[in-house]
Amino acid sequence: MTDARKIALTWKIRESIRLEGFDICGITQASPHHEDSRNIGEWIAAGKNGTMSFLEKNLDKRGDITSLVEGAKSVIVVGLRYYSNEPSAGENNYFVSRYARVKDYHTVIEEKLNRIQKIIKKEVPEAVSRGFCDAGPVTEKAWAIRAGLGWRGRHSMVINKDIGSFFFLGEIVTTAELLYDNASARDRCGDCTLCVEACPTQAICSDRTIDARRCISYLTIEHDGDIAEEFRGKTEKMIFGCDRCQEVCPYNKKAVQYTDQELVPEFHITSLSRKDWLTMTPEEFKKLFRSSPLKRTGFSKIRRNIDFVDYRSPEKS
Ligand code: SF4
Ligand code: SF4
Repeated sequence: MTDARKIALTWKIRESIRLEGFDICGITQASPHHEDSRNIGEWIAAGKNGTMSFLEKNLDKRGDITSLVEGAKSVIVVGLRYYSNEPSAGENNYFVSRYARVKDYHTVIEEKLNRIQKIIKKEVPEAVSRGFCDAGPVTEKAWAIRAGLGWRGRHSMVINKDIGSFFFLGEIVTTAELLYDNASARDRCGDCTLCVEACPTQAICSDRTIDARRCISYLTIEHDGDIAEEFRGKTEKMIFGCDRCQEVCPYNKKAVQYTDQELVPEFHITSLSRKDWLTMTPEEFKKLFRSSPLKRTGFSKIRRNIDFVDYRSPEKS
């Protein structure tokens, strides 16, 4: 492909990304990064994945993105803001993480990525592309950093200096040759340790990973079985996820309400009162959350979480 053609194609793809409503994007070369497999392997070996055994699969593929698309040349990484400034839990409510106050992002982002892939196909008919969003053995944060979207904060999330960390990630791995960004992964955390201090369960490790076994997001969304007594009281009113480490981050001070219309939910989860949650039947849950990330976690786990945060010890009741 000539340089002029590469420039024109890259411009067209960037324009389609912008028109899809993505807030940030970066393009980088597809190449193996075996350190990704190693890092995840060490994290798993330390047991920090909790019961998420699915992360143990395809460990080798995580270190070689070219094994997901034969002949892959480029990785396009996009970010979509989801910050919501709706009031969080009050006296009469529970806390649901911001990412779950919008439509299930997997569906929204996959559809956007599909449309961009169609444009790539139209421009380069022989190109093979695959889209990923929190699925498949893609080390999303590492690729976002390589593509220049930001750096890994102490709380392990990718932070973009302009929009903070409340954004979803998606990737397209393609055989099309594109122009790559001059990415800088400069660490801008400096001496700050606000997230580490704010974490209610000391889940943030010194190597900028999270010990899922202690993280309220994991405990309320992924964890099967009972939540350990040591976390009683620490989960406050959180019944689905925890945003604490992101809320205190100075880079999120400027976070603004999401604007992408495809993320707008069928109803506002923060409008549910404590009574609504407590009287909800499994059938109502299924209907209300049909396009929400809560659907995957399911009614019984959410009820378990409500019971956990509502528990009053006999001495207190
Ligand atoms: S999401 Fe909550 S529990 Fe998990 S690391 Fe952040 S502050 Fe800690
Ligand atoms: S709170 Fe401070 S240390 Fe934590 S991610 Fe944000 S800037 Fe980095």
